[in-house]
Amino acid sequence: MQQPEAGRARVIPIHALPAGERTDPARSTDAAGEVAEVARVMQICNACRYCEGFCAVFPAMTRRLAFGPADAHYLANLCHNCGACLHACQYAPPHEFALNVPQAMARLRRRTYAQYAWPAALGGLYQRNGLTLAVALAAGLALFLALAVALSGQGVAGLWQARPDGDFYAIFPHHLMVSLFAPVFGFALLALGLGVRRFWRDGSAGEATAPPAPVPIPGAAAAEAARDALRLKYLDGGHGEGCHEEDDAATLARRRLHHFTFYGFLLCFAATGVATLYHYLLGWSAPYAWTSLPKLLGISGGLSLMVGTLGLWRLNLRRHPLQQDIAQRPMDRGFIALLFLTASSGLLLMLLRSTPALPLALCLHLGAVMALFATLPYGKFAHGIYRGAALLKFAVERRLPNRLALGDD
Ligand code: SF4
Ligand code: SF4
Repeated sequence: MQQPEAGRARVIPIHALPAGERTDPARSTDAAGEVAEVARVMQICNACRYCEGFCAVFPAMTRRLAFGPADAHYLANLCHNCGACLHACQYAPPHEFALNVPQAMARLRRRTYAQYAWPAALGGLYQRNGLTLAVALAAGLALFLALAVALSGQGVAGLWQARPDGDFYAIFPHHLMVSLFAPVFGFALLALGLGVRRFWRDGSAGEATAPPAPVPIPGAAAAEAARDALRLKYLDGGHGEGCHEEDDAATLARRRLHHFTFYGFLLCFAATGVATLYHYLLGWSAPYAWTSLPKLLGISGGLSLMVGTLGLWRLNLRRHPLQQDIAQRPMDRGFIALLFLTASSGLLLMLLRSTPALPLALCLHLGAVMALFATLPYGKFAHGIYRGAALLKFAVERRLPNRLALGDD
């Protein structure tokens, strides 16, 4: 790529796409078509730049003149789908350019998850991961656990029987639960970690920087990326008023509901972590008192998760089709449903702890948690991991000199 010379007027070239690569957004359903569509919209945006202040996608775009698959995947994951650039765009449908940045990004983003999945053969699961699969898997696992209780020495009567002090380890011993969950959780972590490593390695640093060797990650860049991810900065629409859902109105609902969901999930995770430390370090076994730290963390996390997922479900039903990738809806809803099932069954288990319904509530909760973990690497959860990596890449990249010097960094 030719670099601009000092003193010469700089022009942002719009490379014409070969006839075969010109895409109708509605038809670009294969990988090459989706990359070509992102390249097309980015080339138009790179000449227009009206949305430069909206989010990280546009400053990242200005460091590039061409958008190959790696650049397109990176930008697609940097987009938070707030919809602001669709509503601001003079070339949006019904204009003949039919420019829809959030939709082009969303379609390619879904492709990213499958492309970088580990093992590669399981990448196709993203296409099948939906609401029906999520609920059927949770129900099937709950049924399997209930059968295990009924076929054990406890018999069918063991399924409807109170346990002294609500001790659920009398139903499934602690070591059995650990041996069931640890491999599933370990595999999910490994698969997600290797997938995001592929994504990171594949992504170029942009023509503007093109470092000869891998670029180190400065601490300040890591801190900035973590801050932007934890605050969900780019769900504010660039103007602070939030995302677009079903119409032109901007709302902060999605940002807040994501926070309820994310921090609720973290609180539940912290509850499990503290309980594990209690068990192994202090020798204190569950169930714990209502005022204990694991219970307080679990109750607040569960309630927060329920509020977040119920709200996100409602937004998902109302979102305008132009602002999303319709094909991704089943995956979104499956993940939301599993999170809600996990949270609500956990709270139900606490409430029914002293009743004969304890065994069934336990089977339901464990089935939901296991289904959530099993689908974690091949479902919507992946979007948080890839988006976090894209934010880190952006924070690193913007600290490097921009050799193109075409944009306002
Ligand atoms: S989305 Fe439309 S208005 Fe915004 S930069 Fe691109 S072409 Fe310009
Ligand atoms: S984050 Fe919002 S403004 Fe930025 S590209 Fe995505 S939809 Fe457009």
